[in-house]
Amino acid sequence: MSLRLYDTATREVRDFTPLEPGRAGIYLCGATVQSPPHIGHIRSGVNFDIVWRWLEHRGYAVTFCRNVTDIDDKIIHAAAHEDAPWWAVATRNERAFRTAYELLGCRPPTVEPRATGHVPEMVALMQRLVDAGHAYAAEGDVYFDVRSFPTYGALSGRDLDDMLASEKSLPGKRDPADFALWKGAKPGEPAWDTPWGPGRPGWHLECSAMAHKYLGSAFDIHGGGVDLIFPHHENELAQSTAAGDRFVSYWLHHAWVTASGEKMGKSLGNSLLVTEVVQRVRPVELRYYLGAAHYRSHIEFSEAALQEAAAAYRRIEGFVQRAGELVGDLPVGQVPDAFAASMDDDLGVPGALAVLHNSVRDGNTALAAASHQAVDKETVARLLGEVRGMLAALGLDPLSEPWAGDPRGGGDLRPVVEGLVAVALEQRAAARARHDFAAADAIRDELAEIGVSIEDTSTGPRWSIG
Ligand SMILES: [Zn+2]
Repeated sequence: MSLRLYDTATREVRDFTPLEPGRAGIYLCGATVQSPPHIGHIRSGVNFDIVWRWLEHRGYAVTFCRNVTDIDDKIIHAAAHEDAPWWAVATRNERAFRTAYELLGCRPPTVEPRATGHVPEMVALMQRLVDAGHAYAAEGDVYFDVRSFPTYGALSGRDLDDMLASEKSLPGKRDPADFALWKGAKPGEPAWDTPWGPGRPGWHLECSAMAHKYLGSAFDIHGGGVDLIFPHHENELAQSTAAGDRFVSYWLHHAWVTASGEKMGKSLGNSLLVTEVVQRVRPVELRYYLGAAHYRSHIEFSEAALQEAAAAYRRIEGFVQRAGELVGDLPVGQVPDAFAASMDDDLGVPGALAVLHNSVRDGNTALAAASHQAVDKETVARLLGEVRGMLAALGLDPLSEPWAGDPRGGGDLRPVVEGLVAVALEQRAAARARHDFAAADAIRDELAEIGVSIEDTSTGPRWSIG
């Protein structure tokens, strides 16, 4: 049985054949760092951490690249709103994302490039496109000439003529469907020099340039949320292949976390920020909740489902603990064939978890018997090894990093608490800077409620617990 993945481009589940035996390159579109992450944002990190772990389980050496989009209309808008430099907003929120990824046990990517650090690579890519007749400069902008690329629309299954109706016709554009590779400088906005004048990159160009730099002209897997298929990935594909790259072998798209059927958005307030949700369930339980659904299924958020997931994880954890007390420290075992078969079938985590819960149930039965029959210790030991093997494949083993050693199942919590309070204090400072004192006070009050008191001193805020 080999690994099979659903490829958005071909709309079918097909065998995973890497470009190079034993190796896999993944590019995942990372955060646009305009605000701290809610659980909808962080689902992407959890889903692709599982993809990465399973590829490793199958023996692949993985290069995992997840970018940071640190320049964008939304970041410039947020910065203007709080009267702060764009880079201060981007840095603060990048840190909030990193803290959240770490909190949920997502391993740090092999490389995590920032868009603003790769302007020379973007200029080089634009030059290749201009030289090949696929891009042109107009009125300070640089556009991709969509009509020059006959397969435009193939990834998302859209017809170019249908798309035209929705596109804006701007001065200089040859065709309303042409999209900006580069946006000419506007007063007060950050700008970098190019042969076509100063300006800043379009989002699509950033990813094509960074993917090329770190993964080469062809790589195995490109991931992102389903909302990125069009226009973001359609445009990345057009840019990179028009420039002569073979680009991507498999396109993997994860579904959303929804609230009342809609993509989770800012309108929900702060209650679904990662920093808030981990006050209600432990980080490992939130990871279980976000990872338990198939990556291509939407998760309709509900507090009840979140708590059910936490309870399900605690049942697994309870078995690991009790079995460990009986049979002692044992190495992580092999995963059962049925678990592997589910994971190989397009990362079928729900089926894999069903196998895991069966083993836990059998294990609990054996534990009950073990109290009077020594022979069942062997069964308990075998099932414990199996269960831990399955948990490890999903990044959920309570006895392994980062969860080991902490009774709350959150790893060593001190650095986590420090990181979380620092993030909250940064958001409070930002609220004060924009004279939103109600929001600043609400953050202080919420911290007080969980036992963190804040004292403002001449050298900045100090915090203490209790
Ligand atoms: Zn991207």
